[in-house]
Amino acid sequence: MTPPIAPHSAMMGPPRYRRGWVDDAVAAIEADQCRTADTHLIRLIVPALAGIDIYLKDESTHPTGSLKHRLARSLFLYALCNGHIREGTPVVEASSGSTAVSEAYFAQMIGVPFYAVMPRTTSAEKIAAITHYGGNCHLIDDGRFLYAEAAALAARLGGHYMDQFTFAERATDWRGNNNIAESIFNQLQGERCPLPEWIVMSAGTGGTSATIGRYLRYRRHPTRLCVADVEHSAFFDAFCKGDCAQTCERPSLIEGVGRPRCEPSFVPGVVDRMMKVPDAASIAAMNVLTRRLRRPVGGSTGTNFLALCRLAAQMREAGTTGSLVTLICDSGERYRQTYYEPQWLAARGLDPAPVEAVLTAFLDTGTPMGLDILDADNPCQMRGAA
Ligand SMILES: *Cc1c(COP(=O)(O)O)cnc(C)c1O
Repeated sequence: MTPPIAPHSAMMGPPRYRRGWVDDAVAAIEADQCRTADTHLIRLIVPALAGIDIYLKDESTHPTGSLKHRLARSLFLYALCNGHIREGTPVVEASSGSTAVSEAYFAQMIGVPFYAVMPRTTSAEKIAAITHYGGNCHLIDDGRFLYAEAAALAARLGGHYMDQFTFAERATDWRGNNNIAESIFNQLQGERCPLPEWIVMSAGTGGTSATIGRYLRYRRHPTRLCVADVEHSAFFDAFCKGDCAQTCERPSLIEGVGRPRCEPSFVPGVVDRMMKVPDAASIAAMNVLTRRLRRPVGGSTGTNFLALCRLAAQMREAGTTGSLVTLICDSGERYRQTYYEPQWLAARGLDPAPVEAVLTAFLDTGTPMGLDILDADNPCQMRGAA
C-alpha cells in the first residue's frame, strides 16, 4: 500500500528542512554583498615613472569604510556556518577599531549583541561608528591584555569570541569567491601589464597578505608579495629570524597594522619579501598620496605606499618595467585628529617632512630615493609556526 500523499507536497515537493534563524542570518549577509559593488582599482598617474604602472585597490569605499568589511563578512559567515553564532549569541572581538566597526555593522544586521574590546587609544571616530551600529565598546589600558580580556568577556556573557587574529586567514576563501586577490587580477585584465611585479600590503591580522600570497601560488602567477611592517611590530623580526615567538613591547602608532606578537593569521611562508617602514615615513607617504589623489588616505595606506615606491625606485634602477599594486586600506577622514594634526605628530616626535621631500622628488622627477629602510627577502620557512 502506498502512503497517502499530502496535497501540498504533491505540488511543492517534500517539506524543506530549514535551519530557521541561521538561514535568515546567512541570507541577510549574502544579500548585503549582492547590493554592494566591488571596490575600485585606481590607476595612479605618475608621468616621471614611465613604464611603471601603479594601482591602488580602494578598500575605503566599503559600506563600513575599510578592508575590514571583507574580513567581518567572512568571520560572521564562518562563525554562522560553524554553528558558533546562534540566535541571540553575544559576539565579542579584540580589535584596534576597524574590524569592530565592520563587525558591529554585521551584528546589527543579523540582530545579535556586539562587544568590542579595544585599546583606550582607539580613535574617537571609530568608537562613534561602533556605537552608531549598536555595538558596545570596552576600552582597556594595556593592549597586551586585549586577547585575554576579550576571551574573558565572551566567557562571562556566554558569547562567541570572534578572534580575528586567529581566524582571519582561514575565514576567507583564498582560492577565489571574488576575494581581494581575485578581484585585483580580474580588474587588471585590460591593462598593459595585467600580471603585477609585486603586490604590497601591510599586516594587522596578516589575513589579507595570507589570502593574496596563497592566491598567487594557487593561480601560479609570477607576481610576488611584499609585506610592509611598521616601526613598532613583531612581524618583521619574526620573518627575518624565522621565529614566531618574537614580540614588540611598544604599541604601533599606525592604527590597524603592527602587532605586539606575530599573530597566528600571519602566514610568513607565502611572503616573498618584507620591509620595515618607520612611522614618520608612513605618515610622509600618506601625505604625498593624499595630495596626489586629492583625498585623504589612512596611515597604513602610507605604509603600503612607501614600500611600493621603494620597489618602483628599485625597478627604475634595474631598468625593469611592469605594474605594482597596493591597497587604500581606509580613508584619512578617520585620522583628522591624529596623523593629520601637526600637534599630535609633534607630541610623538614624528617629523614626516624629510621623507615627504624625498618621496615627492622621486614621484615628480624620478630622482633615486635614498631611504634607509630595513628590507629582507624570505630567509626560510618559520620555525615554531602553528
Ligand atoms: C586591518 C587593517 C590592515 C591590515 O589588514 P590585515 O588583513 O588585518 O593584515 C591595514 N590597514 C587598516 C586600516 C586595517 O584596519
